[in-house]
Amino acid sequence: MTATRPASARAIEVSGVVQGVGFRPFVHRLATRHHLAGWVRNVAGTVEIHVEGDEAELDAFEAELRTEAPPVSRIDLLRAAASPASGARGFQIVASADADGNRPVPADIAICADCASEMRDPAGRRYRHLFITCTNCGPRYTVIDALPYDRERTSMAAFSLCARCRAEYETPADRRHHAETIACNDCGPRAWLARADGTEVAEGEAAIAGATQRLAEGRIVAIRGVGGFHLACDATNEAAVRRLRERKHRDAKPLAVMVASLAAARRVADVSPVEERELASPAHPVVLLARRADGGIAPSVAPGLDAIGVMLPYAPLHLLLLDAVARPLVMTSGNLSDEPIAIGNLEARRRLAAIADDFLLHDREILSRVDDSVVRLVDGAPVLLRRSRGFAPLPLRLPVASPAPIVAVGPHLKNTFTLVRGASAFVSPHIGDLDSLEGLAHFRATLDRYRDLFRIEPRVVARDLHPGYLSTRIAEELALPRMAVVQHHHAHIAAVMAEHGVTERVVGVALDGTGYGDDGHVWGAEVMVADLERYERRAHLAYAPLPGGDAAVREPWRVVAGYASLDPAAAPALALAFEGITTHQRSVVARQLERHLNAPMASSMGRLFDAAAAVLGVRRTIGYEGQAAMELESLAGARAAPAFEMPVHEEGGMMVVDPLPLLVALGDCRRRGDDVRLLAAAFHESVSATVARLAIRVAHDAGLETVALGGGSFQNARLLSGVRRQVERSGLRVLVPTQLGPNDGAISYGQAAVAAAQLAREG
Ligand code: ZN
Ligand code: ZN
Ligand code: FE
Repeated sequence: MTATRPASARAIEVSGVVQGVGFRPFVHRLATRHHLAGWVRNVAGTVEIHVEGDEAELDAFEAELRTEAPPVSRIDLLRAAASPASGARGFQIVASADADGNRPVPADIAICADCASEMRDPAGRRYRHLFITCTNCGPRYTVIDALPYDRERTSMAAFSLCARCRAEYETPADRRHHAETIACNDCGPRAWLARADGTEVAEGEAAIAGATQRLAEGRIVAIRGVGGFHLACDATNEAAVRRLRERKHRDAKPLAVMVASLAAARRVADVSPVEERELASPAHPVVLLARRADGGIAPSVAPGLDAIGVMLPYAPLHLLLLDAVARPLVMTSGNLSDEPIAIGNLEARRRLAAIADDFLLHDREILSRVDDSVVRLVDGAPVLLRRSRGFAPLPLRLPVASPAPIVAVGPHLKNTFTLVRGASAFVSPHIGDLDSLEGLAHFRATLDRYRDLFRIEPRVVARDLHPGYLSTRIAEELALPRMAVVQHHHAHIAAVMAEHGVTERVVGVALDGTGYGDDGHVWGAEVMVADLERYERRAHLAYAPLPGGDAAVREPWRVVAGYASLDPAAAPALALAFEGITTHQRSVVARQLERHLNAPMASSMGRLFDAAAAVLGVRRTIGYEGQAAMELESLAGARAAPAFEMPVHEEGGMMVVDPLPLLVALGDCRRRGDDVRLLAAAFHESVSATVARLAIRVAHDAGLETVALGGGSFQNARLLSGVRRQVERSGLRVLVPTQLGPNDGAISYGQAAVAAAQLAREG
């Protein structure tokens, strides 16, 4: 501090991702370096800074706030103004203000490079410490019990700091200054290896060694991580992977793999520089990569697919384990089929007893269940297919602020919910399917937690139009003063508009499995003109009966039977779809079709992909939704192919696409012996060309310049990229889902955006 001249002072406000990421200690170091006095504190989502001292130093300080901010922080807004000097001495971090308003809760951050190298340094006091963290890394949301974020309100409160950790915590220049999860080998949590009956067999180092040996022997180990348990096995051991699938009741759905490093990732898959950046980003999500044939990954990890989900170790325990096993591990969520992931030690031993041989446990309690996030690159840009660990509970913005707090309860499967205050949308982590008691309990518990943490008491509930969704029942049980009902595909389009901050009318293209339409039929291939408040349907796939309803989702041959019933002349071309299906099964379906029994009418892109896979003889039944479409995409690869014609006719201002001639052409070509890979590519080309043509036509008719793409079918990168490129070529702007992905994980956010816009209009 200079005492000779009167000091200038500045008040600075920084918002964005600035809490729980070491921002205040960073500000402290920066201020000290520039000989500035003052203070820094967290207030309701912003960091407030008061600095005083030499004018040139203040300028440098302000500039370096941006350029030298911690790598995991993100500055959205920085406001600085001159302020009266107070004669402050020294620089202080003032305790978190417990203000009302939005209280941001930081997301979990993967182990940073500094901590990773420190734990490998035999001379350091955190050598091989399994719970090493610093102000830049470590668990956050998963250990926070209440706000403000201070150690005594986290599950680390159970571990009292040793004298050396306390000194580091209190030393402003230390990189663990105010690191709430600080710990060391003397005072931190412990890890141990247990048998299925709970008997502890090894601790610490020996537990890692024991788990390593068991994994190498082909055993299945349940591992307690950051947001829950994983089930792990050797990803190069086909027998072990099969055993895991059998015990977990998971037929064919792809399993994620963890590898030790980027170098190890490059051995199992082709990795682009952008994909490397995603793998190593603070969230460390699962990234879908092109699998290498010579990578040694067991075929059962992702049967029938050329993509593989890969992630890097994000907890110190993972890092030591992966170093030791020296091979890729399957790391799939610790649950039975589609139930929620287990988080507690006892709970895991109870629920995973029939799956895991051994348990690698620790005693840092997990307070929130969070699955791994999933990212895929489309046209070189990352799309979040599942927004969970590392992202939730950071809020997204809404383009129209809501005058009243909202809870949007989301869909029935792949559920998330969203809580809204003002323009902040707190989208929950992936909740999953609601059709089990565990799924419902998980929803309710997470909603309670979000309400507590963010102190939002919703007055309005937004729900899907579907009367039978369990989320609809939840919405009714909440019994709030007001309910907004949002059509499923309108919610998909609103979600894409909202994440791009768009409020004006757009053409919305929703390609999806199923959603409840406002005519009572099943929708899923819709072109609409929409803004946030309302939509008008302008084009869709021709309706076809879905014999057996939900059974048709699992058995694509039934979808083909539905199409065949529309035109008996098509039957011979579609014959491959029925190979291996018994006469009895076929006659049951024929009766359903004749009598219109349990055969809802559907216009669904997901079902059209299923039908194409069946007609091409690729698959007549499926183990998980989207399997047929994913296999068709793998078969098609990047192969060029011609597009088949899909006739469009108009019915009272509505354009209706008839997909039957496409199915017939595919069937005929396949039966003549054409290459199935070429036909899979031709199918993609036909659908993208037709969808793009319809979108462009609707845009021209309505005088619009923007097209928004949403819905689960757009998880197919070839379809998304094909439609986008053709629409862009016509000069229109295309919005694609990136932050919440195209699938139903985005529905609650879309519902929230619609409800907020409707409420705001009413004033
Ligand atoms: Zn760190
Ligand atoms: Zn310690
Ligand atoms: Fe959907």
